[in-house]
Amino acid sequence: MSKIKVQFPDNSVKDFNSGVSCFEIVKSISNSLAKKVLVASYNDNIIDLSSQLTTDGKIKFYTWEDDEGKSTFWHSSAHVLAESVESLYPGVKFGIGPPISNGFYYDIDFCDHDVSNINTSKIEEKFLNLCKQNLEFIRSEVSKNDAKSYFKDKGDNLKLDLIDDLKDGEISFYNQGNFTDLCKGPHIPSTKFIKSFKILNTAGAYWRGDENNQQLTRLYAISFPKQNMLEDFIMKLEEAKKRDHRKLGKELELFFFSDKVGSGLPMWLPNGHIIRENLMEFMKNEQISQGYKHVTTPHIGSKKLYVTSGHYEKYGESSFQPIEVPSDNDEYLLKPMNCPHHCEIFNFKPHSYKELPIRIAEFGTVYRYEQSGELHGMTRVRGFTQDDAHIFCTIDQVKDEVLGVMDLILKVFKSLSFDDYKVQISLRDKEDSSKYIGDSKLWDKAENDLVDAVKDTDVKAEVVHGEAAFYGPKIDFMVSDSLDREWQLGTIQVDYQLPKRFNLEYVDKNNSKKTPVLIHRAPFGSLERFIAILTEHCEGNFPLWIAPKQIIILPITEKVNEYAESIKKKLDNLNYRTSLDLRIEKISKKIRDAEVKKIPYMLIIGEDEMKSNTVSIRKKSIGDKGKVNLEKLITMLEDDMKS
Ligand SMILES: [Zn+2]
Ligand SMILES: [Zn+2]
Repeated sequence: MSKIKVQFPDNSVKDFNSGVSCFEIVKSISNSLAKKVLVASYNDNIIDLSSQLTTDGKIKFYTWEDDEGKSTFWHSSAHVLAESVESLYPGVKFGIGPPISNGFYYDIDFCDHDVSNINTSKIEEKFLNLCKQNLEFIRSEVSKNDAKSYFKDKGDNLKLDLIDDLKDGEISFYNQGNFTDLCKGPHIPSTKFIKSFKILNTAGAYWRGDENNQQLTRLYAISFPKQNMLEDFIMKLEEAKKRDHRKLGKELELFFFSDKVGSGLPMWLPNGHIIRENLMEFMKNEQISQGYKHVTTPHIGSKKLYVTSGHYEKYGESSFQPIEVPSDNDEYLLKPMNCPHHCEIFNFKPHSYKELPIRIAEFGTVYRYEQSGELHGMTRVRGFTQDDAHIFCTIDQVKDEVLGVMDLILKVFKSLSFDDYKVQISLRDKEDSSKYIGDSKLWDKAENDLVDAVKDTDVKAEVVHGEAAFYGPKIDFMVSDSLDREWQLGTIQVDYQLPKRFNLEYVDKNNSKKTPVLIHRAPFGSLERFIAILTEHCEGNFPLWIAPKQIIILPITEKVNEYAESIKKKLDNLNYRTSLDLRIEKISKKIRDAEVKKIPYMLIIGEDEMKSNTVSIRKKSIGDKGKVNLEKLITMLEDDMKS
């Protein structure tokens, strides 16, 4: 029998008989691994464990811990969901059932069944029952004709529609139990790996995402290899709901959206405005100390500006359309980016190399047309304010400038207790340089500068090839919130192209004209997104320095109102945002109401406090901190403002 050479991830090579299955190979390594492995890849093609190998190659195995394992697990679960639904609702038709970041979905045409009456707990029961039966996922290759006649007989027009797009000779079916699906695979070996399952949500979805097509019912679901994993997931989901910035935004009166104003256009309320202003103030001061100059530019710009910058060509058709004016032939665009305006500011007067780097900063509001399906609270909006800045520098200054920006971004994270973050350096695709514009030597230099800059800090970064923008490499900062969800926040991008498009120049040492390098950077990203993520991260319990309401004074009896008012006056004079609850209510009710509003400091005042010239402090989430005099209180507040 002929032999094949199989190479393992540790580079060791073993001989196997040709025709050996991936499962036999994994069993030959370790029985305990064989119990956990869900799917394999051979020469980078992901395949079923039952696949037989007949050529030399590199093998890899994936378990639940790997993304490949998880998505195969969830994709396979979608088949079981379909089987469960079909057995309870005969005659239904199936669209597609892919895995997503948390679970999977299946688009289903329930035909004559009443969609509003779908019994999800019945489906869940059937699903788990099928899993217990240890049904194997069995692959078979079918001709296009056979595939068509199978689904014609079944009466499933959606699958027929999908088959139309497939090539004869490349079509496969998978069968488990009493269910056969059109699918290219791969799948987990059998249903016994699936131990828990829940239908999370149902929604309407147009066939192939086209609103001219029929509407199907999308069942969102999730499954796990252990029961307790589902319990943990549901707990996190509940926690996420409590922290949802859209919910907290309304309860704490931070912001809202008005249909009359337009969707995706955020309305900041007084409380949210205070948070914004404080974050902007913080950033402004940090930027001034790093030598940035702040500017203000208009919310619109001539279309020509964006034709020059290249933004019109790239985004013009899919964004807000030009504004026409009666008197001249010009057209204007709502500004999608601040960079072109800042390039023009650089161009205002000639520059010598001695002036570089020039750092131009603006809290610039930009407008981008997001599809309505893409809008999501404050994290995806159509109008938002960036803490934007553009650094114009020489090639030799790139590394130091990047270090300065990193310092700023890390300061932001530290000040707001984002302790868990990831840094990604995005470089060119090594194999395909045609996607990028500009001199490859300049690219090499910029890429090395970014990598070197990160090395100079104690930040660990992942280098990813092929993720750079077409005009230059970048560094992205992602934070994980308390629910392990990852969010992209700050970014630093090196750009050689835009300065050329705007004919930006400076005069170098030898009196010759040179093009500066441009660095785009935004530590917060946008205020809307940043505040949304911050709100969820701290569950609305903002640090004292940005809390919209910092202190509330709660008199126990009317007799102390005057004393309470005198305390308020003193705190007002120190610029603390202080309020006074003079309602005739029980103190327990006043405390509860202040807690709901998530006010960091409650000062409780009774006759005792008035007599001893003190206040009793109650701190959100810490509880009673005892009686202190005003002097001590102010020291405490000052310390808290710094942390
Ligand atoms: Zn499948
Ligand atoms: Zn920019």
